[in-house]
Amino acid sequence: MSPVTLGGMNQQTPGPEPAAAALDAGSAAAPKLARLIRYRTVSSREPQDIDIGEFDAFIRALPELFPLVHRHLGLERVNGYGLLYHWTGKPGPRDAATGAVEAGAGGAGGPLVLMAHYDVVPAARPETWEHPPFSGEISDGVIHGRGALDDKGSLAAVLQAVELLLAEDFQPARDVYLSFGNNEEVSGVTAGVTAALLEGRDIRPWMVLDEGGAVATQAFPFVDGPVAVVGVTEKGVLDVELATEDPGGHASTPHRRGATARLARAVVRLDDNPLPAALPAPTVEMFGRLAPAARFPAGLVFGKPGVFRKPLTRILARMGGESEALTRTTVAVTQLQGSSAANVLASRATANANIRVAVGDTVEGTLKRLRRIIRDPSVTLRLVEGNEPSPVSATDNEQFALLAEAIAAVFPDAVPAPYVMLGGTDSRRFTGICDAVYRFAPFRMDRRARASIHADNECLGIQAFGEGILFYGRLLRGLQSGQ
Ligand SMILES: [Zn+2]
Repeated sequence: MSPVTLGGMNQQTPGPEPAAAALDAGSAAAPKLARLIRYRTVSSREPQDIDIGEFDAFIRALPELFPLVHRHLGLERVNGYGLLYHWTGKPGPRDAATGAVEAGAGGAGGPLVLMAHYDVVPAARPETWEHPPFSGEISDGVIHGRGALDDKGSLAAVLQAVELLLAEDFQPARDVYLSFGNNEEVSGVTAGVTAALLEGRDIRPWMVLDEGGAVATQAFPFVDGPVAVVGVTEKGVLDVELATEDPGGHASTPHRRGATARLARAVVRLDDNPLPAALPAPTVEMFGRLAPAARFPAGLVFGKPGVFRKPLTRILARMGGESEALTRTTVAVTQLQGSSAANVLASRATANANIRVAVGDTVEGTLKRLRRIIRDPSVTLRLVEGNEPSPVSATDNEQFALLAEAIAAVFPDAVPAPYVMLGGTDSRRFTGICDAVYRFAPFRMDRRARASIHADNECLGIQAFGEGILFYGRLLRGLQSGQ
């Protein structure tokens, strides 16, 4: 039995991947993804709630499922349960001449880092799933279960692409690292340790590709076709504790403007006064790239995003939800706490505001604005944790061109477009050692699929999974030596 090959990718100027090749690739690897879904690698902020045996079993299954990867690539554990694979690239022309290979340094121009994570969020209400969340059932051409999209699907597609390439004795033109995190859903600490490890070895990646965007359909109201959205930056995430204090006392003798009332007033002021709206450069570019695919009259507006920047900002800001989140730093008060007893006045009341800092804003600037909006010095603000928005990766470089080429080959009907990610990924930890960090999971996702992430009935079609495998294969084949 011959191994499934990455159809058509041997040619010098390969054409689009045929749909049948995707279905073949997906069908062959679907049982592997299904098996990986069955390990309940649920992450938690509380160490005692983590079933570490499931993480061990997941890691033990990998060599069985991807034997060539484990024969040919180096593997080290990072921060306990992070996995870092190293695939040595071909020596470049200069290295070949001198016979010197810069071992470990990733070759000139640095390595490609493909990232994914294998921890998942819990399935809060398993009884409401059509297929049990950790069954890994395959039915009607679909692989079901928690992690199918986020993010075991990417992990399995990367490993399968490398496995297939190894079966053809392929060696990449530059070094490749596969970096798989075990705590993306709670902290992403392992990704930070991995980035520091590479930095300590003087390795500066040429490109980092992590989860994030997708080949999204029904994502924009005026665009019919699929859009391959590639995250070029992500908003900062900030948790701020608002606190008010008061002498407290018995609830039978309340006084006005107690701790809870002042806290509530602060919360309402934040709600009534959204932060200023603006369109960051990557969002403007996204609209520009969508213009040819957009319906009239949106296409006209998108085509001149510079001219229409102000009205476009206003319209998006008024649309609410995701559209509004594109335009500004958002503030969501997520937790409230007052007195611990029903008949006791609160001596201290607190609220947690979860804030997503827009590209162009800063943590410090945001805190200043919040203080101005709250207009009450008795409400203290404490930065619990947070990070700045990520630097913006370019779209006019070799790296983005390679992504666009692989997208065009596997998703010829999709328009590639940069975008600002609203959520966070592990890859932000790599922005200190790499200028070209992109966030894109190469799977077609309609609105329902996107809504299933972190929710019920997460699943990935076999065809879509296969396209993802072809995409990574194409990307690895498209690598050029850095010299
Ligand atoms: Zn994820």
